Amino acid sequence: MTMSILEIGGVKATALADQFKTPLYVYDQQHIEQTLATFVDRFKSTQFSTQIIYASKAFQAIYLLNLVAEYGLGLDVVTGGELFVATQSNMPRNRIYFHGNNKSLEELDLAFKWGVQHIICDNVMELEVIGQLAQKYQQEMNIMLRLNVGIEAHTHEYIITSHIDSKFGFAWESEECRKCLDLLANNPYLKLEGIHSHIGSQIFDLTAWYASIDKLVTYLKAFNEPLVLNIGGGFGIQYTAADQPLDLGESLTSLISYVEKALAEQQVTISKLMIEPGRSLVGNAGSTLYTVGYQKQTPEKLYYFVDGGMSDNLRPSLYQAKYACDIANRMDAPKTEKVTVAGKCCESGDILIEACLLPVASQGDLLVTYATGAYGYSMSNQYNKNVTPAVVFVKDGIAHEVIRRQTFEDLLHYEVTEKKKRGFKNDV
Ligand SMILES: *Cc1c(COP(=O)(O)O)cnc(C)c1O
Repeated sequence: MTMSILEIGGVKATALADQFKTPLYVYDQQHIEQTLATFVDRFKSTQFSTQIIYASKAFQAIYLLNLVAEYGLGLDVVTGGELFVATQSNMPRNRIYFHGNNKSLEELDLAFKWGVQHIICDNVMELEVIGQLAQKYQQEMNIMLRLNVGIEAHTHEYIITSHIDSKFGFAWESEECRKCLDLLANNPYLKLEGIHSHIGSQIFDLTAWYASIDKLVTYLKAFNEPLVLNIGGGFGIQYTAADQPLDLGESLTSLISYVEKALAEQQVTISKLMIEPGRSLVGNAGSTLYTVGYQKQTPEKLYYFVDGGMSDNLRPSLYQAKYACDIANRMDAPKTEKVTVAGKCCESGDILIEACLLPVASQGDLLVTYATGAYGYSMSNQYNKNVTPAVVFVKDGIAHEVIRRQTFEDLLHYEVTEKKKRGFKNDV
């Protein structure tokens, strides 16, 4: 009997698993490049310039950042660590935007030293520190204000929040905002570049986004000169058949048209429109391969155990995220079993998929979960001292190892005394 085997980027899943072991994060590079091209082609206006920055928390690797830079995108980083990795890539420093609600003095200092030119300010205490650093280095810094517009996007609906309690940003009408504007007016090194808002993730309906754009454009009326308008990220992707995301290209065109219309109606001009997608750039391009181990039948459930779990995909246990899966080495086998796919970590909550249909599986079969490209590797951890899997990018039949699989020795990497005792110089 011939078996149909899943191929990613022209390489059989079985070959990838043999070469790089499982669990394994696999990215279809062509998929990422097509998405990058869609963003670049469709997020354009004849009335203002546009810029797309990749929210790199979704997945950061130098190989990907180089690709993102090549397509002309910029980068959103949130910590000193993400900033450091960005500086090791080909991403031009002037395209890096530093986000985050609690950037430390040390992190902000690095931003100045490393030539970052754009900081998204989350609160007035932070702005004071940025102002002092700007004066110390006699270096101008472009500041965008993170505004909380009181709109929370959920997949198909949105909530207008009357009291604004998010840890991110501040309301336009707030004392915090007034103080920030005062600081900006009184420090010659701080330049107000624009305003920013990010209303949520997995957005499947643009009405929330439209409502936030209306508010932001109203705020812009207060300024004499055209500023940058950054409307955040949050494009939804498909995890399972239950998710029906909007067409990305059409969404981008609709957002551009909506901003053009809102600006015309309110007679406002902007210097630039920005968006910052994370998940939508990499999520659907990534899959995870696991090897099926033991199985167990309980009164209610048939478990397939896999060789990873919440250590490589935290999202199901963190917030009940749903995934779809297949047996990758027998894609044509009839799906007759209702299965719970469980990981190998010591937590009852370490369930990757609660109920799915799968073929009868054997030990050693390959199980693939789809859409793990965003917030998969980046949320991975070494719980139970599971080693972090390798990351490969596959294109035109060639697999390129981007991050190697951890070794057991890597698990001792930070153990100071153990290292001394064993006389480690370098990692194995
Ligand atoms: C997380 C985040 C994004 C990206 O969100 P996605 O849902 O991954 O597109 C963009 N901007 C900010 C400020 C964020 O916190």
